[in-house]
Amino acid sequence: MSNHKVLVIDDSPFIFKAVKRALEPNGFDVVDNASNGKIGVEMYDKYQPDVITLDVTMPIMDGIETAKALVAKNPDVKILMLSAMGDETLHNQAKEIGVKKFIRKPFKPEELLEKVNSLLGT
Ligand SMILES: [Mg+2]
Repeated sequence: MSNHKVLVIDDSPFIFKAVKRALEPNGFDVVDNASNGKIGVEMYDKYQPDVITLDVTMPIMDGIETAKALVAKNPDVKILMLSAMGDETLHNQAKEIGVKKFIRKPFKPEELLEKVNSLLGT
């Protein structure tokens, strides 16, 4: 069991629930849901999560800008970007910024768990 902290930065509460359902039975603590990147960066400071799941399209501050801000705070930050159909062109940009893993929505719970574990090196 892990006890690793996970922060969800996503404007869809449905995604937060799906991440909770996928990870909490496996011992993760899904600490909170930030509905945009600006709140996400504030919550990153507050919770110091081990892993962040990051949406691409959000109001106020999108996933790319958020990834930049998080990497500026911690170059080793572990980000799993959740992309929708059509977001793929942003993958290379996100990789260059320092996003380490990607998953397409909708995802299977076991697929999310596998990506999070591989980010953590477990
Ligand atoms: Mg969104």
